[in-house]
Amino acid sequence: MGEFSIITEFFAQQKNKRADVLVGIGDDAAIVAVPQDQQLVITTDSLIENVHFLPETDPAAIGHKALAVNLSDLAAMGAVPSWVTLALTMPSFDHAWCEAFCAGFFALATRYQVQLIGGNLAKGPLNITVEAMGLVDTNHSLLRKNARVGDKIFVTGTLGDAGYGLALQQKKKSLSADLSSYFLTRLNQPEPQIAAGLVLRENGAHAAIDISDGFIADLTHLLQASDVGARINVDAIPQSAALIEHVASVERLTFALTSGDDYELCFTAPAHHEKLLQEKLASVHCRMTSVGEIISDKKLILHRQNGEIYHGTIQGYEHF
Ligand code: ADP
Ligand code: MG
Repeated sequence: MGEFSIITEFFAQQKNKRADVLVGIGDDAAIVAVPQDQQLVITTDSLIENVHFLPETDPAAIGHKALAVNLSDLAAMGAVPSWVTLALTMPSFDHAWCEAFCAGFFALATRYQVQLIGGNLAKGPLNITVEAMGLVDTNHSLLRKNARVGDKIFVTGTLGDAGYGLALQQKKKSLSADLSSYFLTRLNQPEPQIAAGLVLRENGAHAAIDISDGFIADLTHLLQASDVGARINVDAIPQSAALIEHVASVERLTFALTSGDDYELCFTAPAHHEKLLQEKLASVHCRMTSVGEIISDKKLILHRQNGEIYHGTIQGYEHF
C-alpha cells in the first residue's frame, strides 16, 4: 500500500467527527475553531521502540498508550482533550500491525471525543509521536507552579503497578499468567485521568502534575515549579491490592515511589477542600489519598508512618 492509501484506509476512518474541526485530514494542515472564552492547551509525547515499549508489545496497546500519555498531560492541566495529530514512522508497512494500532488508538480517542485531525507518515525506526490539544476556560488551567505552603498533597489511584509490570515484562519477575496480565495492562494501557483533572480544576486544587517518571521525580518537578518543599509519609502512598499481595513491602514501596508509567495525578489543595474533592472524585470513580503536605523549607522530607526518616531508593526515570 502507498502512503496515501494507508492514510485513507487507516487514519482517516474515525467515525465520530467534531463540529469544531473545520478542516481535518486531507489538506496541508488542519483548522479548528477555539471558543472565545477558552484557551488551547497543547502537549506532545513520543513512544519509541525499545525505550517506551518492547518489539513484542501488542500494537493495540501501543496505539492506546501513545494517545493515553498525551491525554494524561492534558488531564494534569485540567483541560478537556479535543484534537490530536499523529506522526508515525514505521520500518515497513504491516497491515495487521496498523489495524491493531488504530483499534487501540481510536477506541481511546472516541471514548474522550478526541478527533485525529492530521499527522505524518514516514519510513524509519518505529516511532509514534502524538500531539494532543485540549481546551480550558481562560486562565483556569491547573499548573505545577501553584502549590502553596500548608497545602495537602494527594495522589489519585494507586502507584507502582506499572513499574512492577515493566519488571515482569523484562523478565526480572515472574507470576501466573492472570496476574501478569493485570500488571502488564497497567503498564501498557494506562487510563488518563481526564475526569479527575476536571474535578481538581473545578474544586479548588492548587497545583497538579501527572506521574509519568515516578512519584518522587514528578513531585520534585512540582515542588521546584512552586518554589516550596514537602513532607511525604511514604507509608501512605496508595498501592493496589494485587501489588500488596504479591510483592514484598520494601520492594513495592520502591516501585510506588520511583517507577514511572502509572499516569495517575499528584496534586495539592488546601485542607478545607479535601472533603469536597474526595466526594467529587468518588463520583467519577477516582480514589484520592493524602500523602503529605507542602512546607516552606525547600526540601523533600520522606518519612515513615512512625515519623522516622525514610532512607530507600528515590531515583526516577530520566532519559539523559
Ligand atoms: P503534507 O505533505 O502537506 O505535509 P501529507 O501528504 O504528509 O501532507 O499528508 C496528507 C494529509 O494526511 C494531511 O492532512 C496530514 O495531516 C494527513 N496525515 C498524514 N499522516 C497521517 C497520520 N499518520 N494520521 C493522520 N493523518 C495523517
Ligand atoms: Mg503540504
